[in-house]
Amino acid sequence: MGPMLSVGTLALSLTLAAGERAPLVVVDPGHGGTRPGATGVGELLEKALALEISLQLRSALERAGARVVLTRGKDVRLGLDERVAFANRHRPDLFISVHANSMPTRKQRERTEGIETFFLSANASYEEARRTAARENDDAPAAGGGKADDTLSFILADLQRTEAHVDSSRAAYAVHQRLVAATGAVDRGVQQAPFYVLMGVEAPAILVEVGFVSNPEEGKRLSDPAYQQLLAGAIADGAKAFLDQVRARDGREKVARP
Ligand SMILES: [Zn+2]
Repeated sequence: MGPMLSVGTLALSLTLAAGERAPLVVVDPGHGGTRPGATGVGELLEKALALEISLQLRSALERAGARVVLTRGKDVRLGLDERVAFANRHRPDLFISVHANSMPTRKQRERTEGIETFFLSANASYEEARRTAARENDDAPAAGGGKADDTLSFILADLQRTEAHVDSSRAAYAVHQRLVAATGAVDRGVQQAPFYVLMGVEAPAILVEVGFVSNPEEGKRLSDPAYQQLLAGAIADGAKAFLDQVRARDGREKVARP
């Protein structure tokens, strides 16, 4: 444990009133099993990195007083629909999917690095965000003709109206700011894209791309356990800030509408 490691966990402690239930966070390590996700420099695989960061994220969140369940705690394949169903069974206060990014060509691999945080939107913020979503949607069940599309547009239309959507964007900004501040990584911003895994979750939901495993420098950093812990701590800090914000707001609403 280096001195960096305390940064993310320093101020963590959720403010709970007496008898109040600790908030629940579902943490979702991307890919797994026969689906390695992005492949990076050296032996670095997205599925292993996502799991490592997720396990540390669980510890950090638990230290902060939250309850945490993981969609997968080991190297197993899990469909995106299974992740969504699992999350909804637990009725979480926040859903966080952990991923890492990569670029296809050598030139792009050398050039592209940085962190981006996504929340669900029917439209991608820009072409690259759309491509990232398309790649991460790889494990989604095959669409059954027009039916899936109809279901999808219904879910998306409904989402736009719900508070969960606004809260997802709040959670994304809270987490993203802390990630960039803690790591000094290239800031690729908060993005919106149609990620399958975020669509069906009936809770504020975000997807973090912690960096590009394909970039020589960032890939090396991402392989470092101390850096992984820094990332996990920063995500936990952002989640905690978001959960506190929601709690304060809902508390005020209860007072305002007795
Ligand atoms: Zn991924």
